[in-house]
Amino acid sequence: KKLVQIKNLKKYFKTGRRQVRKAVNDITFDIYRGETLGLVGESGCGKTTLGKIIVRLYKPTSGQVIYDGIDVHKTGSPHNIALNKHMQMVFQDPYASLNPRMTAGEIIGEAIDIHSQGQKGFKRERVIELLQTVGLHPGLSGRYPHEFSGGQRQRIAIARALAVEPDFIVCDEPLTALDASIQAQIVNLLEDLQKQKELTYLFISHDLSMVRHICNRIAVMYLGQVVELASKDELFEHPLHPYTQAVLSAIPAPDPDLETTSRRVILPGEASNTFKLSSGCGFNSRCPKAEARCRQTAPVLSEKGSGHWAACHLS
Ligand code: SF4
Repeated sequence: KKLVQIKNLKKYFKTGRRQVRKAVNDITFDIYRGETLGLVGESGCGKTTLGKIIVRLYKPTSGQVIYDGIDVHKTGSPHNIALNKHMQMVFQDPYASLNPRMTAGEIIGEAIDIHSQGQKGFKRERVIELLQTVGLHPGLSGRYPHEFSGGQRQRIAIARALAVEPDFIVCDEPLTALDASIQAQIVNLLEDLQKQKELTYLFISHDLSMVRHICNRIAVMYLGQVVELASKDELFEHPLHPYTQAVLSAIPAPDPDLETTSRRVILPGEASNTFKLSSGCGFNSRCPKAEARCRQTAPVLSEKGSGHWAACHLS
């Protein structure tokens, strides 16, 4: 069942008198209840902007986000406050997103206050319960963010998000700032919470191999657009878009003896250099398979096989 529907979403930023950056450039896809959808792309491709629009931290230039049947950006909607409870976001750098002058208990308590009219006793109990839920000892509630490790800070950020009992969480690179062993612990925590609380995640990452272990489906973004979307097995085994193929070819094989370096696709240029989007496919200046029609007509994301979507003339 669809929980979030993203329809023709656009977010343009003015970067100069005549320049416009099309951070999110006409994106349409659905997120199903209970799944973890990976949103993967290079930095600057618009994935964080898209996440922020979905949870209403940004307003879109145009297009819609429908959450459980409600248009979340429609002004004056009676559902506006309730929506904040349903949708939360966990950020890449927990240190930057936690107030350094508040204790862990105050940070989580503030989130409880914003969304409920609870009494004091109830709040203290709830803070303790949330700290335990994310694997932190309740005795740590009086400590400040700088007294915690990176992994513990991310646990506090997750507890804060859980304080409002959301159904849907956008996790924006929550593992990037952490060591590999700590990353595995946070992944386990997110997976356990998903099972316990029937959460739906949009998991943003720049690393396709990282999301493979966490996600059910993966959407690949390139320059403000989703260029491919499929189940993770389908995407890894039968990538259709030349950009996905190039990214996958750069991931080392688990068995180095099997790695055939000759198959690796090296893309010319940089994504940021091609930001002045011309007509045609946004990937055409770097695409090893580009044809004449790729410079004239932009491909649209369309279903090529059951549940496998790609935006490419050739696929
Ligand atoms: Fe490459 Fe053309 Fe496909 Fe774009 S439409 S990805 S340029 S082959």
